[in-house]
Amino acid sequence: MNKVLILSGAGLSAESGIRTFRSNNGMWEEHNVMEVCSVQGFIQDRQLVLDFYDKRRKDISDKLPNDSHFMISGLKEKYPGNITVMTQNVDDLLEKSGCKEVIHLHGKLRELKCEVCGNEFDIEYRSIKEFSECPECKSHSLRHNVVMFGEPAPMYQRLYNELMKTDLLVIIGTSGEVLPVSQFASYTRYSILNNLDKSFAIDDSIFTYTFYERATTAASKIKKIISEYFETGKI
Ligand SMILES: [Zn+2]
Repeated sequence: MNKVLILSGAGLSAESGIRTFRSNNGMWEEHNVMEVCSVQGFIQDRQLVLDFYDKRRKDISDKLPNDSHFMISGLKEKYPGNITVMTQNVDDLLEKSGCKEVIHLHGKLRELKCEVCGNEFDIEYRSIKEFSECPECKSHSLRHNVVMFGEPAPMYQRLYNELMKTDLLVIIGTSGEVLPVSQFASYTRYSILNNLDKSFAIDDSIFTYTFYERATTAASKIKKIISEYFETGKI
């Protein structure tokens, strides 16, 4: 079966006004990244980290998906069994664009996670302070459901399993500093790269097509290539 995997990162949501630390020299809002995005930081100051994710959750409540999100959701709707949508983003803009079955590799801002039983649940854009216990096991140990540096990302196994089935890999808006995307591209027959700028962490000679431009302007070109792929089996 021909399989397309669309893997996105911060560049997908940047034009919707969602900022991440990579756009700002290791700072995320007013914080050092390791203070708010690492297991060590969480142990040092749990409340600071929980408050930080409360603010980020509130920040995304009024953000809207852009043309690139809609391009992905449209293709997923047209070819539901042949496209897998994965993202490193913790926002909900793909879902807001109507995309089904989005796999979030680094968790979701809108969710809390129980540290006792592992239950994950949606709280939309509300504060963790409104939730005193886990709906499943009633424990009081709740946290944000975003993967931090220093802890495993359970969905990576799913990513590697998908890659083995992928014929066309589409990378949108990721610098390759967290995930080795050019290595991924070497596993697949065809691949497309769309980033705003060249990244030192990506060997772009491996990709079949590269688009160095905004995700929204590349969207129609990527859509055309994927549609042709489904018609002809090649790009
Ligand atoms: Zn629980």
